Amino acid sequence: MVEKILANLEKSNCATDNTFLQAVSEVLTSLEPIVSSDPRYGQYSILERLVTPDRVIAFKVQWIDDQNRVQINNGYRIQFNNSLGPYKGGLRFHPTVTTGVLKFLAFEQIFKNSLTGLPIGGAKGGSDFDPKGKSEIEIMRFCHAFMRELHQYIGARVDVPAGDIGVGSREIGYLFGEYKRITRQYDGVLSGKPYAFGGSLMRPQATGYGVVYFAREMLQVELQESLEGKMCTVSGAGNVAIHTIEKLQQLGAIVLTCSDSDGAIYDPNGINLALLRELKEGGARLSLSEYATRISGSVYTPKADYPKDAHAVWQIPCFAAFPCATQNELTLNDAKKLIENGCVAVVEGANMPTLPDAIELLQREGILFSPGKASNAGGVAVSEFEMSQNASMEKWDFDKVDRKLDELMRQIYKRVSLTAKEYGVERNFVDGANIAAFKRVAEAMLLEGV
Ligand code: NDP
Repeated sequence: MVEKILANLEKSNCATDNTFLQAVSEVLTSLEPIVSSDPRYGQYSILERLVTPDRVIAFKVQWIDDQNRVQINNGYRIQFNNSLGPYKGGLRFHPTVTTGVLKFLAFEQIFKNSLTGLPIGGAKGGSDFDPKGKSEIEIMRFCHAFMRELHQYIGARVDVPAGDIGVGSREIGYLFGEYKRITRQYDGVLSGKPYAFGGSLMRPQATGYGVVYFAREMLQVELQESLEGKMCTVSGAGNVAIHTIEKLQQLGAIVLTCSDSDGAIYDPNGINLALLRELKEGGARLSLSEYATRISGSVYTPKADYPKDAHAVWQIPCFAAFPCATQNELTLNDAKKLIENGCVAVVEGANMPTLPDAIELLQREGILFSPGKASNAGGVAVSEFEMSQNASMEKWDFDKVDRKLDELMRQIYKRVSLTAKEYGVERNFVDGANIAAFKRVAEAMLLEGV
């Protein structure tokens, strides 16, 4: 018992913010050519201010499980930078959540939100609560307890959280319900709400569809290639992966893989999306091993393979690869394999899924590489569309949101690639994204003063 408490404390007080330092280091390296070009950046300590969060909020979440035992989790909200607009970024419920992980995600969110061109600042939050194996009622009780603390720090014009890993529209619904009960305010304080009470059509699809719209534009402009008939690999089996697979399939691509934290599926006949959804979107959230069991049976094609290694996704020859699971999932070895197998593009759906040495190799070998902060920005963009609809009490139809998302993803691609050219690093979309995003945020910080 004492050991367990100490281990949990050690985890949540971990001083090594590796992912945060990794994210900051990538951005600052990209910014080297631009920071010396304007003396105001130094004079006003823009970089130092940019890497320091405005606020790190930590709180205790107490809730009661189905056995009537009191459970305790850590809750957090990191409000990193609101120079461009209200703080905006998802909530993650996963046992690996610490302030370090959330600082990295909130920092990345500043740049992503800036790239959309929309008026939103950067934040992230969540808890080390593990939704896996919890009953529906336990999840509801946890969400209510989490909001009892969080409500005092958020607001439609202050900070508008959304979903992320472990937080979908079900959880957002419970969180919103509790917010409303406590504050008596019916306003757009959360995005990703169910459509029935203020959610935007297409928010569930937005990140995955946006990833594919970005990829389509990049492939068309850079290589005059389309996705039709092309073999693609996708990792993950959650919201982003499912909708990336769906849009790829709609555009005629053949998606061969998906993965979860237990392993990967390779289905040479193309992933059966209906089955994947049945396994992952239902209340039970079953393991992907079930996909292989069922496909090997009589209903689906019997050729699916289930290696106990999520990296197996990157061993499969493909035209384009879409890492959509989690951070640091695509390693140098995976990148080598992708290159060996003739992959021409890696388009990130997750946040920072590719390790720095893997990115460097892919870029050196001329593979088109798009960082998540550019290619997965469709989710937060449609969240902002939801805020607009809530503020004006309007409801936009599916086609309108889809058209706006498609246009916005093309604009992001253009912004990133033109900036890369302007700074002499053509086709380096990492530098292009970081510089373009930084310029907008830095300008706002300068204009606001200290
Ligand atoms: P979900 O919780 O819906 O899904 C995550 C999926 O990835 C799950 O299937 C999970 O497996 C799987 N997974 C987790 N770790 C690993 C691993 N090490 N190897 C293989 N699979 C793994 O989350 P989302 O789809 O919402 O988020 C995925 C990524 O996209 C995250 O990086 C998130 O920050 C990012 N993102 C999400 C946005 C959104 O709108 N939802 C917006 C922008 C970025 P299991 O089922 O076993 O848990």
